[in-house]
Amino acid sequence: MKIVYSEVHRGHAGAKEFVNGDFVPMYEKPERMDMILERFRAAGFGEMVEPVSFGLEPARRVHDAGYLDFLREAHALYQREPEAAGDVAMPFAFGMRGLRQQPGPSAHAKLGHYCFDLSVPFVAGTWPAIETSCDVALTGGKILRDGARAVFSLCRPPGHHAMRDLAGGYCYINNVAVAAQAALDAGAGRVAVLDVDYHHGNGTQSIFYERDDVLFVSLHGHPDQEYPYFLGYEEETGAGRGEGHNLNLPMRWGTDWSGYGEALDIAVGRLHDYGPDVLLVSLGVDTFKADPISHFKLEHEDYLRIGGAIAGLELPTHFVMEGGYAVAEIGVNVLNTLTGFEEAA
Ligand SMILES: [Zn+2]
Repeated sequence: MKIVYSEVHRGHAGAKEFVNGDFVPMYEKPERMDMILERFRAAGFGEMVEPVSFGLEPARRVHDAGYLDFLREAHALYQREPEAAGDVAMPFAFGMRGLRQQPGPSAHAKLGHYCFDLSVPFVAGTWPAIETSCDVALTGGKILRDGARAVFSLCRPPGHHAMRDLAGGYCYINNVAVAAQAALDAGAGRVAVLDVDYHHGNGTQSIFYERDDVLFVSLHGHPDQEYPYFLGYEEETGAGRGEGHNLNLPMRWGTDWSGYGEALDIAVGRLHDYGPDVLLVSLGVDTFKADPISHFKLEHEDYLRIGGAIAGLELPTHFVMEGGYAVAEIGVNVLNTLTGFEEAA
């Protein structure tokens, strides 16, 4: 399997995030990629490929143009603020209900307008990492269209929380959504996105919520208990033409394979019925029992089963990296998913 990867992500590092009342070093950090690469090398798995540049036009197909301008300029804009403190741009005031919904010229206003939480810092290397991560996903899509059975886009930063004009949850450009749209634009009739990250893919859901050419299926921690809290309920089934094209399978804290496997069967059944031309998988492995920010109980061998179940759909399959924060274990869980897929394919 080809693995698309670039070292450019390393520049997006060194910032903190705000969690439960305190600033902590970001869980989403470059070392996550090192552990995955180390496991791949040790197992002799995959063939590494550099991404090529597609420009920003594919991202504009699913994101607001002003939002993309903001992502590119956020760090520099913040540095020009008279009270800019340090190198890291982060929001601290949000345009919530009752406030103006249009940002003024201040970097603080723009940060609050285009971010929905405090996990999306901008350092000098953030924009190059965002842009390259999107190119990684687009390059993976091109490899699939050129005839590969499957491909893995090792994206960082991740993307599935990013909405049309909002960054959050470590995500800036929604890589999987951009790749799904690019597949349609290149001639696919319908595509499906299976999101197995522990957290609900609120961005992907919202981008495609009123469309019938993209089926979104997500298995995740229940929004009654879990980030991103405001989306991911079972009753969110799509709207307008998209009615029936969104399937949420939320699960409670403590879910192990017995519950997860049942939900995965339902997801796979729905994907089979839909019969997409291409399957994209938002691959997060923060469902692992030792993940520091999650509450599922999956074991290493369960990822082999996930990969095998996905292979059973017999579709061209594009794996796109999302979350996973048990850094020492992230590599084996990603590798198991992909080898489980290849062994069953
Ligand atoms: Zn996650």
